[in-house]
Amino acid sequence: VSPALDGTAIRRRVLEASHRAHVGHIGCSLSVAEVIAVVFRCVLRRTGPDDPDRDRFVLSKGHAALALYAALAIRGDLDEATFLTFGEDGTRLGVHPDAAIPGVDFSTGSLGQGLSFACGAALAARTAGSARRVVALLSDAECDEGSTWEAALFAGHHRLGALTAVVDVNGSQALGRTREVLGLEPLADKWRAFGWTVVEAPGHDESALERILAPRRADPDAPLVVLARTELGHGVSFMANDVRWHYAPMTDEQARAALAEVDAADRSAP
Ligand SMILES: [Mg+2]
Repeated sequence: VSPALDGTAIRRRVLEASHRAHVGHIGCSLSVAEVIAVVFRCVLRRTGPDDPDRDRFVLSKGHAALALYAALAIRGDLDEATFLTFGEDGTRLGVHPDAAIPGVDFSTGSLGQGLSFACGAALAARTAGSARRVVALLSDAECDEGSTWEAALFAGHHRLGALTAVVDVNGSQALGRTREVLGLEPLADKWRAFGWTVVEAPGHDESALERILAPRRADPDAPLVVLARTELGHGVSFMANDVRWHYAPMTDEQARAALAEVDAADRSAP
């Protein structure tokens, strides 16, 4: 029996695999666990990885690749033996995703580029007469990058209604708090000014995310951006909102404590 594809299942697999590989980027994978669960469970249609009309997903914040691999593994798109090679020499599952992996359409990790990829995919869908959707997941710090705003301008101008961007607004980036490194607020006003429909969401509330992301859209012509308010390291109290967990790997003791906390929260969940 495969476990449910939810944020808790992704969180558990991220912790196990990052510990096994002694690889970091944990906090930024945990902040998107619920967003990725909802996107893969409720938004992207299940078609083959080679179906030209498949929906497209761009993990612009490529350093959260482990959360993406976890979703693919839970869904059964990535076999278990391959998932277990994460971070090993010679694996296809590197710290950043590669388009050579079935189910991964875009190699990412050079930050600030994913929204441009997604714009191209949405424009191509229109040109091809395809009803496919395109979802891009960005970090909030990618909104520091000029290329993100060039893509936002392009999507607004071309009314790319097939495009949805989700921004993981966790308030953290590699070297500090976003409000201290480069302030982004009022972020909703900025996206709105570029011609996007803006929805703010509690980013760890799967029901709320599903209500926003799953339906076909009321305004089919404007691109949609969801500002998902999240927490770095969500679900593991000693990681929460602590910038060190952008990059650090766990010790054995930390991994045990983190998994115990996720299990306890799961048992007490309604
Ligand atoms: Mg961030």
